[in-house]
Amino acid sequence: MTDHFAENGLGNAVAVIQHPAGEHHDGITYVSYQGPLEDPYVASFNHDTGEWFGPFKAGVSIMGKDPSRKIDNHGKPTMIIDDAGYIHIFFGGHGGLRALHGDNPLGNHHYGENKHVISKRPYDITEWEELDTIPPFGTYNQVVKMDNGDIYLFYRHGAHRSDWVYHKSTNNGRTFSEPVVFLKHKRRDDLSAVDSWYPYVTKGQGDEIIVSFDYHLCWDSAGAPDARGHTANRQDLFYMVFDTGDGNWRNVRGEELPMPLTREVAEAKALVARTGDLWTFNGSVALDPKGRPHIGITMGQDRGTKVGGPKEMRHYRWTGSEWVGGAPSVLPIANGDIVADSQQNIRFVLASQNQKGGGTVGWWQSTDGGVSFKRTRELLRRPNVSFAISSFIRNAHPDARIMVAERLRGTGRRNMYLLGDSGAVQRPRDETDQTRP
Ligand code: ZN
Repeated sequence: MTDHFAENGLGNAVAVIQHPAGEHHDGITYVSYQGPLEDPYVASFNHDTGEWFGPFKAGVSIMGKDPSRKIDNHGKPTMIIDDAGYIHIFFGGHGGLRALHGDNPLGNHHYGENKHVISKRPYDITEWEELDTIPPFGTYNQVVKMDNGDIYLFYRHGAHRSDWVYHKSTNNGRTFSEPVVFLKHKRRDDLSAVDSWYPYVTKGQGDEIIVSFDYHLCWDSAGAPDARGHTANRQDLFYMVFDTGDGNWRNVRGEELPMPLTREVAEAKALVARTGDLWTFNGSVALDPKGRPHIGITMGQDRGTKVGGPKEMRHYRWTGSEWVGGAPSVLPIANGDIVADSQQNIRFVLASQNQKGGGTVGWWQSTDGGVSFKRTRELLRRPNVSFAISSFIRNAHPDARIMVAERLRGTGRRNMYLLGDSGAVQRPRDETDQTRP
């Protein structure tokens, strides 16, 4: 037996932002990831029989086919299972191409074509069909299913100078509404740059969807003395709530926000924290049982660089009257997802690097509201690798909470792991060999 379930992951085969990447339903965990040629692959694990099934290719991306381009990684799959049992995958986008797709009315172009595929039969991952439901320009798909079955698809409507939008479906994803802008990209009049955003969107309480987000200062590439081009310059942290019941957006204090949100209004009404000299990479957000948000975001000393450097995880929480947290040096340089059991008890699953260059995935726990964290249970450790980690699986089974891709040196190929409270969900080696491209 091996600890991994597939050997055909590619590049950053999973990430926190494209989520959920998997879902548990009725004893079976379904997972998706970026595989050969940047196409989406889907596998499933039956918790009763202990058997793996797949992976199967669920669609064909227009990215990943040109060997002269590096792996794009923006089009990795996002999964949701609708109330009729059909499995939906959104994938393949990074802004679209003007020559192929025409003008992007809400932003700029880069590559790819955002696509939507659906399983031909409920809970059956063997065959898929493509639906023509969404524009080609999207990237960073994030999908939320409400308790009444409504599906909300969120994404950035283009490359890094584009609005963020959502579409609503009330018929199990067979059709979607026109895109609705909720975060506005906008030219600054004080700098040679454009406002842009990186949100993480997930279900809140009842009819609510919650959003944590950081700001991208997108510098012009030419034409002005302060132009320095697109960099990983992200900063500051924000939070807001979308009430799908009345269609309004509010800040954490319940004050209504004018939509689409601009930087000026975000800074005045939705700010969690300024990050000063530190650059950020937005993580995820979760509510504690009393509905108070807890946010994970990574930060590092990146000023003066172009692509940014290592960033450590930080935790913020809303006490009911103020935002607290952000303490440095209590969590490692890592990415991962967050659970808030209460104001005081907070847990992360984090993929981090060891000092000797190996990768570790494990739980980190605070019992003092995030002032300190201890490493508790380790789920996976490997020498000479690093791990790309997903968000939590939707409705996760305790034995299958999160996915990681093992970054092997010198190749884009990745071993894929599904991790839970018992560590890795194992698979016979002769089966995983067959998942190579
Ligand atoms: Zn940019």
